[in-house]
Amino acid sequence: MTLHPRLLNGRTGDPGLWIEARHQPEAILLDCGDLSTLAPRQLLRVGLVAVSHAHMDHWAGFDRLLRLLIGRQRRVQVVGPAGFAGRLFHRLQAYTWNLVDRIPAELAFEVTEIAPGAHWARTRFRLAEGFRAVPLPSQPAVADGTVLQLGALRLRAAVLDHGTPSLGFAVEEAAHVNVWRSRLDARGLPTGPWLAALKAAVLAGAPDGTPIPLPTGAPPQPLGALRELVEVTPGERLAYLTDLADTAANRAVAIALARDADILFIEAPFAAADAAHALDRRHLTTRAAGEIARDAGARHIEPFHFSPRYEDAEARLFSEVFAAAGRPLPH
Ligand SMILES: [Zn+2]
Ligand SMILES: [Zn+2]
Repeated sequence: MTLHPRLLNGRTGDPGLWIEARHQPEAILLDCGDLSTLAPRQLLRVGLVAVSHAHMDHWAGFDRLLRLLIGRQRRVQVVGPAGFAGRLFHRLQAYTWNLVDRIPAELAFEVTEIAPGAHWARTRFRLAEGFRAVPLPSQPAVADGTVLQLGALRLRAAVLDHGTPSLGFAVEEAAHVNVWRSRLDARGLPTGPWLAALKAAVLAGAPDGTPIPLPTGAPPQPLGALRELVEVTPGERLAYLTDLADTAANRAVAIALARDADILFIEAPFAAADAAHALDRRHLTTRAAGEIARDAGARHIEPFHFSPRYEDAEARLFSEVFAAAGRPLPH
């Protein structure tokens, strides 16, 4: 396991998923309803905050992060649905920022708004400028929803319908390429920087004919002749789906985003018997959550955002999700 996700407030509290990855200093926050369970030293590692939508339970905790960041040298990426930069602007402008020119540390938030269309709007807010909104060149939208790369992790997003646009997210680790030392030895090849070029070519999906320079002074060899030296391990994938109505269109988008996820965090606020109520609130039932997890082929299911209206919420809702997914209950 190289991805280490943690639901900040359990299955019933405000949504917030903290994601750390091995060998990676920067952490990712998906939603930030209530951040009080994170220590300051953890919050200071946040490099990316991705917010599904602006309902209060999903981002009321932002001020705690902001308070800690003032005076720190940081560039934080922010991802949200259409109009999110305007919401962040108003949030930031709730405070007075005179005298900030005395703070030497550069703090900036860079917002990318995910919306249907060919381009995603980008906006920067810098403390030194009193967090005025500065438009950045827009980012071309890509079909697979890739928004950005944070270290070895890639964030993808897709727009779901919750009566308002709500973003689903996938966090994916790059594939690893491991070198077989014994096979190198068998062919009399040394280790060294040349292996980086070999690994990069493999990861980039380069064709067999691609020449790879060797360190021995020998002529370059085609990639196809060197493939047996390495082994590719796919990276881990995590998906996070919350606040979406159970519609056919949403299911299709959700399943595509969560396809083959190692871990799927999925909302399951309402019991299967309360489907009419769930649809009225533009939320999933446990059954819909389980069926989406099953159809996406998610390996491990983590239901959350349970409504507090159910007295026996955790046990009942949890078992309904796994029954709908056709999976045994985990212990
Ligand atoms: Zn909501
Ligand atoms: Zn919610």
